[in-house]
Formats: sequence, C-alpha cells, structure tokens
Amino acid sequence: MDFRNFSLHISQTKVNRFVDELAAGKFMATVCKKCGKKYYPPKADCSNCMESDMEWRQMGGRGTLETFTKIYVPPDHFAVRPPLMPFSTIQFEPCPIGLLEVEDGLKIMGWIPKMDVKKIKVGMKMKASPQLLPDGKITIVLEPI
Ligand SMILES: [Zn+2]
Repeated sequence: MDFRNFSLHISQTKVNRFVDELAAGKFMATVCKKCGKKYYPPKADCSNCMESDMEWRQMGGRGTLETFTKIYVPPDHFAVRPPLMPFSTIQFEPCPIGLLEVEDGLKIMGWIPKMDVKKIKVGMKMKASPQLLPDGKITIVLEPI
C-alpha cells in the first residue's frame, strides 16, 4: 500500500515524516528549538523566528471540538461515507468535518463520519485517529470520547 498518498501530492519535502508517522497512527508536530513555537501540521521552518532547527514531537489526538461544518460534495479521497449512488461519489447526506483543539492550541482537522450531524456540538470532547481508506490513502477521523 502506498501510504504517501495523503490529500496532497507530496513527493519529497522536509516534512515527509508527517505522512509516514500518520500512517503509523501518530500525530506529529514540530517545535522550534530556538523560540519554542509548535506547529501542526508540522513545518520545517519557523515562521516566528525564521529558524530551521526544528524538533519532531508526538502529540495527543484528544481534545475539544472548536468548530465544524458540513460538506455536501466531499473530494473523492475524503469520501469516507459510501456513495449513495453506485459509481458516484455524490452524497446527499452531509459529511461533517471538524476542527479539534488539542494540546497547546494545536488543531487537527478531520472528518466526523460516524455521528449524526444533529448530535455534533461545539465544545464536545473528541479524539482524532488516522484512518486508512480502501484506496490506500489516509484521512483523519474524529470521534466522540
Ligand atoms: Zn522559532
């Protein structure tokens, strides 16, 4: 399986480790060794102090839902719900997507495929998990805890 097919066509960058670790079930952030600023998704260069000496650190996937919205026609690689029509990605049920605030203000965006949209509430406790899709690509799923 090709775990490098994340949502973007990433070939070789200074943050490729992000996708490899995500495939292994870990959320990784980078921390600037000079000023201490943390980045998720990871950055190879600190935009705060322009330093490139970064440290990789695993972060937790549990946090508080900061906001969410509904996507009616998700991109193919994020279509975590089966299509309602054969041979189509058209979905008539909205697919919720949320922003989870985890440690130190870092935020993880992910799909919320297993919940009724009406039951999703800002402020609820959730956990983020990488999920392998049938096509071999990786997405991030949020679930209540
Ligand atoms: Zn810095």
